[in-house]
Amino acid sequence: MSVDVEDWFQVWAFEGSGAITRPQWESFPRRVEANTDRLLGLFADAEVKATFFTLGWVAERHPSLIRRIVEQGHELASHGWDHTRADAQTPEQFRADIRRTKRALEAAGGCEVVGYRAATFSIGPKNPWAFEVLAEEGYRYDSSTYPVKHDFYGDVHAPREPHRRGNLLEVPMTTCRRMGRTLPAAGGGWFRLLPYGVSRANLRRVVDGEKRPAVFYFHPWEIDSGQPRVRNLPWKTRVRHYTGLSRMEAKLSRLLRDFAWDRMDRVFLK
Ligand SMILES: [Zn+2]
Repeated sequence: MSVDVEDWFQVWAFEGSGAITRPQWESFPRRVEANTDRLLGLFADAEVKATFFTLGWVAERHPSLIRRIVEQGHELASHGWDHTRADAQTPEQFRADIRRTKRALEAAGGCEVVGYRAATFSIGPKNPWAFEVLAEEGYRYDSSTYPVKHDFYGDVHAPREPHRRGNLLEVPMTTCRRMGRTLPAAGGGWFRLLPYGVSRANLRRVVDGEKRPAVFYFHPWEIDSGQPRVRNLPWKTRVRHYTGLSRMEAKLSRLLRDFAWDRMDRVFLK
């Protein structure tokens, strides 16, 4: 089980469509701490431990939240500094980004950080060097590849199962095979858009059918139906971001109880 800890205005589609620019970030009301605290409550109720891939930007502004994540037994992991796509960086910029984030998270959390997930699953055929840089900077696993076809990310030819990339373990986002096709099964917008039973069936195909663990992810803003509405969004981005926010918490509660979940380091790093 994993959470990508970022605020409602840091979603790549908002920046990509020009609806929000980075200089605006500091002027928006931050909701990530309150939303993540609600998630911590949800996990505590279900007795589930998870991995929190967190932005350095968030850790710098909310150090006490980082401590609470660690104190409650969850894994603290890196989501990069400020949600800049890995495939928009040079190897040198990427190295500086993941190094700075690891240090900031470790300082705030008082624990070692060994996991990484790139913003918008942005490790793929354009930047395979990223795996080596991650290992050199002390990361032990990565969860940034998504072997699906999507307009913002994905590589249909990437392996579906966890595999070694030199000294790094790559844990791809979970997909399932259905009617000869590879479909996303790791959560995200699909979990809110589709009926819960469809998501559960897709995960069962992997967990029971293929007999291996699945990776699920979502964001703190996905349980926040009171978040400010961004105007002038393309319809696709609007539908993806705002559909099903009010039903998300109830769906998550079911999901947490329907499967046995744990931190990614405990599931994959043996
Ligand atoms: Zn993200």
